[in-house]
Amino acid sequence: MGAEIRFGFRIVGLPAGCSAATVRFVSPHSNEAPLLRSGRGLVHPSGPTDTPERVLRAFARASVDFGTADFAELVAGCLDELARMPRTRGRVYAYAAPGHGAREAAPVNPMGPGELMGPGETVPVPEAGRFAMGWAEMVEALGIRVVRVPTDKQRPVDLGPIEAAHRLDRKRRIRCMLAVHVETSTGIRHDPRTLRVALDAACHPALLVVDAIAPLASIRLETDAWRIDGGVAGSQKGLVLPPGLSFVAARPCAPEVARTAGLPRRDWDRCCREEADSSERFSGTPPVPMIFALRGALDIPAEEGSATVFARHPRLAGAVRAAVARRGASGAIDVHCLDPDARADTGRALAFAPEVELDRRRERARERHGVGLGGAIGPFRGRLLRIGHLVDLDEAMVPGALGVLELVLRLSGVPHGRGGVGATVAALAGR
Ligand SMILES: *Cc1c(COP(=O)(O)O)cnc(C)c1O
Repeated sequence: MGAEIRFGFRIVGLPAGCSAATVRFVSPHSNEAPLLRSGRGLVHPSGPTDTPERVLRAFARASVDFGTADFAELVAGCLDELARMPRTRGRVYAYAAPGHGAREAAPVNPMGPGELMGPGETVPVPEAGRFAMGWAEMVEALGIRVVRVPTDKQRPVDLGPIEAAHRLDRKRRIRCMLAVHVETSTGIRHDPRTLRVALDAACHPALLVVDAIAPLASIRLETDAWRIDGGVAGSQKGLVLPPGLSFVAARPCAPEVARTAGLPRRDWDRCCREEADSSERFSGTPPVPMIFALRGALDIPAEEGSATVFARHPRLAGAVRAAVARRGASGAIDVHCLDPDARADTGRALAFAPEVELDRRRERARERHGVGLGGAIGPFRGRLLRIGHLVDLDEAMVPGALGVLELVLRLSGVPHGRGGVGATVAALAGR
Protein backbone atom coordinates (compact mmCIF):
# COMPACT_ATOMS: atom_id res chain seq x y z
CA MET A 1 0.00 0.00 0.00
CA GLY A 2 2.70 2.47 1.00
CA ALA A 3 4.87 1.50 -1.97
CA GLU A 4 2.78 2.99 -4.76
CA ILE A 5 2.54 6.35 -3.10
CA ARG A 6 6.02 6.58 -1.65
CA PHE A 7 7.33 9.10 -4.16
CA GLY A 8 5.86 12.30 -5.41
CA PHE A 9 2.66 12.11 -3.45
CA ARG A 10 1.79 15.15 -1.44
CA ILE A 11 -1.27 16.42 0.31
CA VAL A 12 -0.71 19.99 1.40
CA GLY A 13 -3.56 20.18 3.84
CA LEU A 14 -7.13 20.22 2.71
CA PRO A 15 -8.65 23.61 2.08
CA ALA A 16 -10.85 24.69 4.92
CA GLY A 17 -14.38 23.75 4.19
CA CYS A 18 -13.60 20.41 2.55
CA SER A 19 -14.95 17.50 4.45
CA ALA A 20 -12.37 15.55 6.35
CA ALA A 21 -10.53 12.96 4.30
CA THR A 22 -8.04 10.36 5.31
CA VAL A 23 -4.77 9.96 3.48
CA ARG A 24 -2.01 7.46 4.09
CA PHE A 25 1.18 9.43 3.66
CA VAL A 26 4.75 8.22 3.47
CA SER A 27 7.40 10.87 3.64
CA PRO A 28 10.11 10.26 1.04
CA HIS A 29 12.55 12.10 3.32
CA SER A 30 12.50 9.94 6.38
CA ASN A 31 12.16 6.47 7.78
CA GLU A 32 9.15 7.45 9.81
CA ALA A 33 6.17 5.22 10.04
CA PRO A 34 3.33 6.05 7.67
CA LEU A 35 1.11 8.71 9.11
CA LEU A 36 -2.61 8.40 9.00
CA ARG A 37 -3.58 11.96 8.31
CA SER A 38 -7.08 13.18 8.71
CA GLY A 39 -8.82 16.42 9.48
CA ARG A 40 -8.48 19.84 7.95
CA GLY A 41 -5.34 21.67 6.96
CA LEU A 42 -4.58 25.08 8.43
CA VAL A 43 -3.12 27.88 6.33
CA HIS A 44 -1.00 30.32 8.28
CA PRO A 45 1.24 32.16 5.87
CA SER A 46 0.67 35.92 5.62
CA GLY A 47 -1.16 35.45 2.33
CA PRO A 48 -3.02 34.17 0.52
CA THR A 49 -5.27 33.78 3.52
CA ASP A 50 -7.84 31.09 4.02
CA THR A 51 -10.99 31.67 1.98
CA PRO A 52 -14.09 30.98 4.09
CA GLU A 53 -16.64 28.50 2.85
CA ARG A 54 -19.34 31.06 2.16
CA VAL A 55 -16.98 32.99 -0.11
CA LEU A 56 -16.00 29.79 -1.92
CA ARG A 57 -19.67 29.10 -2.45
CA ALA A 58 -20.14 32.58 -3.90
CA PHE A 59 -17.71 31.62 -6.68
CA ALA A 60 -19.80 28.69 -7.73
CA ARG A 61 -22.18 30.57 -9.97
CA ALA A 62 -22.89 30.14 -13.65
CA SER A 63 -21.34 32.87 -15.76
CA VAL A 64 -23.50 35.88 -16.53
CA ASP A 65 -23.62 38.46 -19.28
CA PHE A 66 -21.29 41.07 -17.86
CA GLY A 67 -22.70 43.73 -20.19
CA THR A 68 -25.90 44.13 -18.18
CA ALA A 69 -26.81 47.04 -15.96
CA ASP A 70 -27.24 44.59 -13.07
CA PHE A 71 -23.65 43.44 -13.27
CA ALA A 72 -22.36 47.02 -13.65
CA GLU A 73 -24.32 47.92 -10.52
CA LEU A 74 -22.86 44.97 -8.63
CA VAL A 75 -19.32 46.09 -9.50
CA ALA A 76 -20.02 49.73 -8.64
CA GLY A 77 -21.56 48.73 -5.31
CA CYS A 78 -18.53 46.61 -4.38
CA LEU A 79 -16.09 49.39 -5.25
CA ASP A 80 -18.05 51.96 -3.25
CA GLU A 81 -18.06 49.65 -0.27
CA LEU A 82 -14.34 49.04 -0.67
CA ALA A 83 -13.73 52.78 -0.47
CA ARG A 84 -15.59 52.95 2.83
CA MET A 85 -13.39 50.26 4.33
CA PRO A 86 -10.17 52.35 4.47
CA ARG A 87 -12.38 55.38 5.10
CA THR A 88 -11.79 57.48 2.04
CA ARG A 89 -14.13 59.69 0.05
CA GLY A 90 -11.89 58.97 -2.93
CA ARG A 91 -12.76 56.43 -5.57
CA VAL A 92 -11.65 52.81 -5.86
CA TYR A 93 -10.48 51.40 -9.20
CA ALA A 94 -10.22 47.64 -9.73
CA TYR A 95 -7.57 45.74 -11.67
CA ALA A 96 -7.78 42.11 -12.71
CA ALA A 97 -4.22 41.55 -11.52
CA PRO A 98 -2.36 40.64 -8.32
CA GLY A 99 -1.37 43.41 -5.93
CA HIS A 100 1.61 44.19 -8.12
CA GLY A 101 -0.79 45.37 -10.82
CA ALA A 102 -2.22 48.04 -8.50
CA ARG A 103 1.29 48.92 -7.35
CA GLU A 104 2.13 49.82 -10.93
CA ALA A 105 -1.25 51.39 -11.73
CA ALA A 106 -1.03 53.80 -8.78
CA PRO A 107 2.07 55.80 -9.76
CA VAL A 108 1.30 55.95 -13.50
CA ASN A 109 -2.15 57.46 -12.94
CA PRO A 110 -3.23 60.70 -11.25
CA MET A 111 -3.33 60.54 -7.47
CA GLY A 112 -5.66 63.48 -7.31
CA PRO A 113 -6.85 66.42 -9.37
CA GLY A 114 -3.90 67.28 -11.62
CA GLU A 115 -1.47 65.16 -9.61
CA LEU A 116 0.48 63.21 -12.20
CA MET A 117 3.98 61.90 -11.93
CA GLY A 118 6.24 62.54 -14.88
CA PRO A 119 9.40 60.83 -16.09
CA GLY A 120 12.49 62.11 -14.29
CA GLU A 121 10.62 63.02 -11.11
CA THR A 122 11.88 61.72 -7.80
CA VAL A 123 10.18 59.26 -5.51
CA PRO A 124 11.55 58.44 -2.06
CA VAL A 125 10.86 54.90 -0.86
CA PRO A 126 11.73 53.89 2.71
CA GLU A 127 13.47 50.53 2.32
CA ALA A 128 11.40 48.80 4.98
CA GLY A 129 11.63 45.29 3.53
CA ARG A 130 11.21 43.15 0.45
CA PHE A 131 7.85 44.59 -0.60
CA ALA A 132 9.02 48.19 -0.27
CA MET A 133 12.20 47.41 -2.17
CA GLY A 134 10.24 45.67 -4.92
CA TRP A 135 8.07 48.76 -5.32
CA ALA A 136 11.17 50.92 -5.64
CA GLU A 137 12.50 48.63 -8.40
CA MET A 138 9.17 48.78 -10.18
CA VAL A 139 8.88 52.58 -10.34
CA GLU A 140 12.52 52.84 -11.32
CA ALA A 141 11.75 50.63 -14.33
CA LEU A 142 9.00 53.13 -15.22
CA GLY A 143 11.56 55.92 -15.56
CA ILE A 144 11.18 57.51 -12.14
CA ARG A 145 14.23 58.42 -10.08
CA VAL A 146 14.06 56.57 -6.79
CA VAL A 147 15.66 57.74 -3.58
CA ARG A 148 15.97 54.69 -1.36
CA VAL A 149 15.78 55.79 2.23
CA PRO A 150 17.79 53.26 4.26
CA THR A 151 16.16 51.99 7.40
CA ASP A 152 16.66 49.35 10.07
CA LYS A 153 14.69 46.27 8.96
CA GLN A 154 13.83 45.38 12.56
CA ARG A 155 12.13 48.64 13.47
CA PRO A 156 9.57 51.05 12.03
CA VAL A 157 11.08 53.32 9.37
CA ASP A 158 13.42 55.97 10.60
CA LEU A 159 11.75 59.37 10.13
CA GLY A 160 14.92 61.50 10.30
CA PRO A 161 16.28 60.56 6.84
CA ILE A 162 12.78 60.87 5.32
CA GLU A 163 12.41 64.38 6.65
CA ALA A 164 15.95 65.24 5.51
CA ALA A 165 15.37 63.96 1.95
CA HIS A 166 12.29 66.18 1.63
CA ARG A 167 13.97 69.19 3.23
CA LEU A 168 16.78 68.98 0.67
CA ASP A 169 14.29 68.93 -2.20
CA ARG A 170 14.11 72.71 -2.67
CA LYS A 171 13.23 72.42 -6.36
CA ARG A 172 10.24 70.25 -5.50
CA ARG A 173 11.22 67.36 -7.71
CA ILE A 174 9.52 64.99 -5.30
CA ARG A 175 5.87 64.60 -6.15
CA CYS A 176 5.08 61.61 -4.09
CA MET A 177 6.44 59.21 -1.47
CA LEU A 178 5.65 55.50 -1.73
CA ALA A 179 5.51 53.57 1.54
CA VAL A 180 4.36 50.17 2.75
CA HIS A 181 1.94 50.19 5.69
CA VAL A 182 2.45 46.63 6.95
CA GLU A 183 5.64 45.18 5.51
CA THR A 184 4.64 41.55 5.28
CA SER A 185 8.21 40.35 4.83
CA THR A 186 9.16 41.53 8.34
CA GLY A 187 5.81 41.66 10.17
CA ILE A 188 6.36 45.34 10.97
CA ARG A 189 3.69 48.04 10.85
CA HIS A 190 4.91 51.40 9.57
CA ASP A 191 2.34 53.93 10.70
CA PRO A 192 1.49 56.23 7.76
CA ARG A 193 0.65 59.00 10.27
CA THR A 194 4.29 59.25 11.30
CA LEU A 195 5.35 59.54 7.65
CA ARG A 196 2.97 62.45 7.17
CA VAL A 197 4.40 64.09 10.29
CA ALA A 198 7.91 63.82 8.74
CA LEU A 199 6.70 65.45 5.49
CA ASP A 200 5.01 68.24 7.47
CA ALA A 201 8.18 68.78 9.49
CA ALA A 202 10.05 69.32 6.21
CA CYS A 203 7.23 71.67 5.04
CA HIS A 204 6.98 69.52 1.91
CA PRO A 205 3.73 69.08 -0.06
CA ALA A 206 4.59 65.57 -1.32
CA LEU A 207 1.75 63.14 -1.78
CA LEU A 208 1.76 60.00 0.32
CA VAL A 209 0.80 56.76 -1.43
CA VAL A 210 0.58 53.66 0.69
CA ASP A 211 0.69 49.93 -0.05
CA ALA A 212 -2.09 48.68 2.23
CA ILE A 213 -2.25 45.23 0.63
CA ALA A 214 -1.64 43.44 3.92
CA PRO A 215 -3.73 45.36 6.47
CA LEU A 216 -6.89 46.31 4.56
CA ALA A 217 -9.97 44.95 6.33
CA SER A 218 -7.94 43.71 9.31
CA ILE A 219 -6.53 46.71 11.11
CA ARG A 220 -7.49 50.37 11.27
CA LEU A 221 -6.70 52.47 8.23
CA GLU A 222 -8.03 56.02 7.99
CA THR A 223 -7.02 57.18 4.53
CA ASP A 224 -8.52 60.67 4.57
CA ALA A 225 -8.04 61.46 8.26
CA TRP A 226 -4.37 60.39 8.10
CA ARG A 227 -3.87 62.44 4.92
CA ILE A 228 -2.96 59.51 2.71
CA ASP A 229 -3.42 60.52 -0.92
CA GLY A 230 -3.59 57.11 -2.55
CA GLY A 231 -3.60 53.49 -1.55
CA VAL A 232 -3.29 50.06 -3.08
CA ALA A 233 -4.82 46.80 -1.88
CA GLY A 234 -5.20 43.24 -3.09
CA SER A 235 -7.78 40.49 -2.85
CA GLN A 236 -5.84 37.72 -1.11
CA LYS A 237 -5.01 39.11 2.32
CA GLY A 238 -7.62 40.78 4.51
CA LEU A 239 -10.32 40.38 1.88
CA VAL A 240 -9.99 36.55 2.10
CA LEU A 241 -10.31 36.07 -1.67
CA PRO A 242 -7.87 34.19 -3.85
CA PRO A 243 -5.18 36.33 -5.51
CA GLY A 244 -5.94 38.02 -8.80
CA LEU A 245 -7.84 41.22 -8.05
CA SER A 246 -6.27 44.46 -6.87
CA PHE A 247 -7.42 47.98 -6.14
CA VAL A 248 -6.23 51.56 -6.21
CA ALA A 249 -7.94 54.21 -4.07
CA ALA A 250 -7.42 57.79 -5.20
CA ARG A 251 -9.24 61.07 -5.52
CA PRO A 252 -11.19 61.52 -8.75
CA CYS A 253 -9.57 63.57 -11.47
CA ALA A 254 -11.12 65.15 -14.55
CA PRO A 255 -10.33 62.95 -17.59
CA GLU A 256 -9.08 65.95 -19.59
CA VAL A 257 -6.46 66.55 -16.88
CA ALA A 258 -5.63 62.88 -16.46
CA ARG A 259 -5.02 62.49 -20.20
CA THR A 260 -2.60 65.42 -20.47
CA ALA A 261 0.62 64.06 -19.05
CA GLY A 262 2.19 61.56 -16.76
CA LEU A 263 3.86 58.28 -17.47
CA PRO A 264 2.98 56.09 -20.44
CA ARG A 265 0.10 53.76 -19.67
CA ARG A 266 -2.56 51.96 -21.64
CA ASP A 267 -4.41 49.13 -19.92
CA TRP A 268 -3.55 50.47 -16.48
CA ASP A 269 -5.14 53.80 -17.41
CA ARG A 270 -7.65 54.89 -14.90
CA CYS A 271 -9.80 57.17 -17.07
CA CYS A 272 -11.56 54.31 -18.81
CA ARG A 273 -12.20 52.80 -15.40
CA GLU A 274 -14.52 55.70 -14.59
CA GLU A 275 -16.97 54.24 -17.11
CA ALA A 276 -19.94 52.22 -15.95
CA ASP A 277 -19.37 49.72 -18.77
CA SER A 278 -17.90 46.64 -17.12
CA SER A 279 -15.41 45.74 -19.85
CA GLU A 280 -14.10 49.33 -19.80
CA ARG A 281 -13.78 49.21 -16.06
CA PHE A 282 -11.52 46.15 -16.24
CA SER A 283 -9.89 46.93 -19.56
CA GLY A 284 -11.17 43.60 -20.83
CA THR A 285 -13.41 40.80 -19.64
CA PRO A 286 -14.26 41.37 -15.98
CA PRO A 287 -13.32 38.54 -13.60
CA VAL A 288 -16.98 37.66 -13.13
CA PRO A 289 -16.74 34.87 -10.48
CA MET A 290 -14.27 36.97 -8.50
CA ILE A 291 -16.80 39.82 -8.36
CA PHE A 292 -19.46 37.47 -6.98
CA ALA A 293 -16.98 36.26 -4.42
CA LEU A 294 -15.95 39.84 -3.58
CA ARG A 295 -19.58 40.64 -2.87
CA GLY A 296 -19.69 37.68 -0.50
CA ALA A 297 -16.38 38.61 1.12
CA LEU A 298 -17.48 42.20 1.77
CA ASP A 299 -20.54 40.97 3.64
CA ILE A 300 -18.38 39.30 6.30
CA PRO A 301 -16.69 42.37 7.88
CA ALA A 302 -19.94 44.28 7.37
CA GLU A 303 -21.70 41.70 9.56
CA GLU A 304 -18.93 41.39 12.14
CA GLY A 305 -18.48 45.17 12.39
CA SER A 306 -15.14 46.95 12.10
CA ALA A 307 -14.82 47.48 15.87
CA THR A 308 -15.03 43.71 16.44
CA VAL A 309 -12.60 42.96 13.59
CA PHE A 310 -10.10 45.51 14.89
CA ALA A 311 -10.37 44.06 18.40
CA ARG A 312 -10.06 40.42 17.29
CA HIS A 313 -6.72 40.84 15.54
CA PRO A 314 -4.76 42.23 18.51
CA ARG A 315 -6.37 39.59 20.73
CA LEU A 316 -5.20 36.69 18.55
CA ALA A 317 -1.86 38.42 17.95
CA GLY A 318 -1.45 38.62 21.75
CA ALA A 319 -2.06 34.88 22.00
CA VAL A 320 0.69 34.19 19.44
CA ARG A 321 2.97 36.64 21.21
CA ALA A 322 2.51 34.77 24.50
CA ALA A 323 3.63 31.47 22.92
CA VAL A 324 6.61 33.07 21.26
CA ALA A 325 7.76 34.72 24.48
CA ARG A 326 7.77 31.30 26.17
CA ARG A 327 9.59 29.53 23.33
CA GLY A 328 12.14 32.25 22.89
CA ALA A 329 13.47 31.48 26.35
CA SER A 330 16.16 29.27 24.73
CA GLY A 331 17.76 31.93 22.55
CA ALA A 332 17.27 30.02 19.26
CA ILE A 333 14.01 31.86 18.55
CA ASP A 334 13.19 35.52 18.73
CA VAL A 335 10.64 38.02 17.46
CA HIS A 336 12.12 39.85 14.49
CA CYS A 337 10.68 43.31 15.23
CA LEU A 338 12.52 45.01 18.08
CA ASP A 339 9.81 47.59 18.73
CA PRO A 340 6.87 45.91 20.50
CA ASP A 341 4.45 48.65 19.44
CA ALA A 342 5.25 48.16 15.75
CA ARG A 343 4.63 44.41 15.57
CA ALA A 344 1.83 43.95 13.09
CA ASP A 345 -1.34 42.40 14.46
CA THR A 346 -1.83 40.68 11.10
CA GLY A 347 1.21 38.45 11.34
CA ARG A 348 4.39 37.75 13.24
CA ALA A 349 7.89 37.24 11.89
CA LEU A 350 10.00 35.04 14.14
CA ALA A 351 13.75 34.89 13.77
CA PHE A 352 15.47 31.51 14.07
CA ALA A 353 19.13 30.64 14.36
CA PRO A 354 20.41 29.27 11.00
CA GLU A 355 21.17 25.85 12.58
CA VAL A 356 17.44 25.33 12.99
CA GLU A 357 17.15 24.72 9.21
CA LEU A 358 13.86 26.47 9.20
CA ASP A 359 12.73 25.51 5.73
CA ARG A 360 12.92 21.82 6.63
CA ARG A 361 10.86 22.48 9.76
CA ARG A 362 8.27 24.34 7.69
CA GLU A 363 8.15 21.52 5.22
CA ARG A 364 7.51 19.06 7.97
CA ALA A 365 4.73 21.19 9.48
CA ARG A 366 3.10 21.42 6.07
CA GLU A 367 3.57 17.91 4.73
CA ARG A 368 3.05 15.86 7.83
CA HIS A 369 0.84 17.99 10.02
CA GLY A 370 -1.10 20.05 7.48
CA VAL A 371 -0.09 23.46 8.83
CA GLY A 372 1.22 25.97 6.30
CA LEU A 373 3.59 28.54 7.85
CA GLY A 374 5.20 31.37 5.88
CA GLY A 375 8.88 31.43 5.05
CA ALA A 376 11.01 34.51 4.61
CA ILE A 377 11.50 36.39 1.39
CA GLY A 378 14.39 38.65 0.54
CA PRO A 379 17.46 39.01 2.72
CA PHE A 380 16.05 36.95 5.61
CA ARG A 381 15.41 33.81 3.56
CA GLY A 382 15.79 30.71 5.73
CA ARG A 383 15.99 32.77 8.92
CA LEU A 384 12.45 34.05 9.45
CA LEU A 385 9.27 32.15 10.00
CA ARG A 386 6.12 34.13 9.38
CA ILE A 387 2.91 33.22 11.14
CA GLY A 388 0.01 35.01 9.54
CA HIS A 389 -2.88 35.58 11.90
CA LEU A 390 -5.32 37.60 9.93
CA VAL A 391 -8.97 37.48 9.10
CA ASP A 392 -10.77 34.15 9.11
CA LEU A 393 -9.23 32.84 12.28
CA ASP A 394 -10.45 31.81 15.69
CA GLU A 395 -9.42 30.52 19.10
CA ALA A 396 -9.20 26.96 17.80
CA MET A 397 -6.89 27.67 14.88
CA VAL A 398 -4.24 29.76 16.64
CA PRO A 399 -3.31 27.17 19.32
CA GLY A 400 -3.57 24.49 16.59
CA ALA A 401 -0.88 26.07 14.44
CA LEU A 402 1.29 26.96 17.44
CA GLY A 403 0.95 23.41 18.77
CA VAL A 404 2.24 22.01 15.49
CA LEU A 405 5.14 24.46 15.53
CA GLU A 406 6.04 23.28 19.02
CA LEU A 407 5.70 19.64 17.94
CA VAL A 408 8.02 20.17 14.99
CA LEU A 409 10.61 21.96 17.12
CA ARG A 410 10.49 19.22 19.71
CA LEU A 411 10.78 16.38 17.18
CA SER A 412 13.70 18.12 15.50
CA GLY A 413 15.55 18.68 18.74
CA VAL A 414 15.54 22.47 18.35
CA PRO A 415 15.98 23.97 21.82
CA HIS A 416 12.97 26.01 22.82
CA GLY A 417 11.13 27.08 25.92
CA ARG A 418 8.28 24.70 26.80
CA GLY A 419 4.68 25.57 27.48
CA GLY A 420 4.02 27.89 24.53
CA VAL A 421 0.56 26.52 23.86
CA GLY A 422 -0.36 26.83 27.52
CA ALA A 423 0.74 30.47 27.40
CA THR A 424 -1.48 30.98 24.35
CA VAL A 425 -4.49 29.59 26.18
CA ALA A 426 -3.73 31.77 29.20
CA ALA A 427 -3.53 34.84 26.96
CA LEU A 428 -6.86 33.98 25.31
CA ALA A 429 -8.42 33.48 28.72
CA GLY A 430 -6.98 36.75 29.91
CA ARG A 431 -5.21 35.11 32.83
C1 LIG B 1 1.25 40.39 -0.48
C2 LIG B 1 1.81 41.73 -0.61
C3 LIG B 1 2.15 42.28 -1.85
C4 LIG B 1 2.07 41.50 -3.14
O1 LIG B 1 0.82 41.24 -3.58
P1 LIG B 1 0.67 40.35 -4.91
O2 LIG B 1 -0.78 40.10 -4.99
O3 LIG B 1 1.49 39.13 -4.71
O4 LIG B 1 1.19 41.15 -6.05
C5 LIG B 1 2.64 43.57 -1.89
N1 LIG B 1 2.81 44.29 -0.76
C6 LIG B 1 2.52 43.78 0.45
C7 LIG B 1 2.74 44.61 1.66
C8 LIG B 1 2.01 42.49 0.56
O5 LIG B 1 1.72 41.98 1.79
